[in-house]
Amino acid sequence: MSDIILPQAGRAAILDGKAAAAAIDRAAAEAARALTPGLGRPPCLAVVLVGEDPASQVYVRNKARRTEAAGMTSVEHRRPADFPQEDLIALVQELNADDGVDGILVQLPLPGHIDERAVVEAIDPAKDVDGLTAASAGRLVLGAPGLRPCTPSGCVWLAEQALGDLTGKSVIVIGRSILVGKPAALLFLEKNCTVTLAHSRTKDLPGLCRSADIVVAAVGRPELVEGDWIGEGACVLDVGINRVDAPEKGEGGSKLVGDVDFEAASVRAGFITPVPGGIGPMTIAMLLANTVRAAAGRKGLPIPENLPG
Ligand code: NAD
Repeated sequence: MSDIILPQAGRAAILDGKAAAAAIDRAAAEAARALTPGLGRPPCLAVVLVGEDPASQVYVRNKARRTEAAGMTSVEHRRPADFPQEDLIALVQELNADDGVDGILVQLPLPGHIDERAVVEAIDPAKDVDGLTAASAGRLVLGAPGLRPCTPSGCVWLAEQALGDLTGKSVIVIGRSILVGKPAALLFLEKNCTVTLAHSRTKDLPGLCRSADIVVAAVGRPELVEGDWIGEGACVLDVGINRVDAPEKGEGGSKLVGDVDFEAASVRAGFITPVPGGIGPMTIAMLLANTVRAAAGRKGLPIPENLPG
C-alpha cells in the first residue's frame, strides 16, 4: 500500500501520513466536484483566526492552501489578539447564518481572555467541521452520524490502513483531552476495539501499553513513551508535536519530536507514525472530508460513499 513504507529488517513499517493525507485530499476533491452542481457552488470552509500565534498562522495557511487545492472555497477571518469575545461570537453567528458557508473552524487556542467553550458552542453543529461542539460530541457518544473530530479520525484511518478491520483490537489512548484523547477512545470503540483511556493519573502505563495492539500517544510530552513500553508488532500512532532543542543543528537549533521515542519504539512496533509527517497531515485531510460532508448534509445531498473519516 502506498501509504505504508515497508520496514527494514527488524524495524516497524512507517505509516506515511503525508501520502495517506494526499489520497484523502484527492477523494475530498472528487467528492467536492460531484457536489458542486447540486450546491450551485463548491463547498466552502470559513476559518477564524484570532491573534498572531505563529503556529496557528502556519496551520491556517496550510488549511486554506489544501482546501483550495481540493477545489473548495476557503474564507479566512483574521482578528486581532484583543478581539472581544462577544464580537467573536457575533462573527460565528454571522457565519452560521451565511448560506454560502458550509464549515466553520475557529483556530484554537484562542487568546486567554476568551472562553473557548463558549465560542465553540456558538458554532452551528451542522457546520462544526472540527467536531468539537457538545452536539457533535454527543452524537459520537451515541454512535449517531455526525461530524467527527479530525485528528482522532486520522488516527483511526491510519490504524485501518495498517491493520485492516480493527474489531477486537486492544487500544490504549494516552491523554484524555476533548480535542484528541477522549474522541479517539470513542472512535476506536465505534470500530469494535477494546479501549483503555489513560492519563496522568494512570497506574502502570508501561504495562498497559505493552499489552495493547494499538498505542495512541496524545500527551504533549517529548518521547514520554519508551521503546520497551511497546509490544512486539504493535501499531503506534504518535499524535504529539513537541519542539525540542537540537544542538546538532547549530546554536539555537530545534526540531519536532512526538510523544514516542521513535527510534527505540521502531525496533519493537509493527507499524509506527513519524513526527512530523504522520498524524499531523491527516488532520487537515479529515477537515476537507468533513467540509464536503457538512456541505452535503446541510443541503440534503447524498454524502459520497468513498469519503474517508
Ligand atoms: P492536552 O494538554 O489537552 O492533553 C494532554 C493529556 O495528556 C491530558 O489528558 C493529560 O491527562 C495527559 N497526560 C499528561 N501527562 C501525562 C503523563 N505523564 N502520562 C499520561 N498522560 C498524561 O493536549 P492535546 O490537545 O490532547 O494534545 C496532545 C498532543 O498532541 C500535543 O503535543 C499537541 O500538540 C498534539 N496535537 C497534535 C495534533 C495533530 O494534528 N497531529 C492535533 C492536536 C494536538
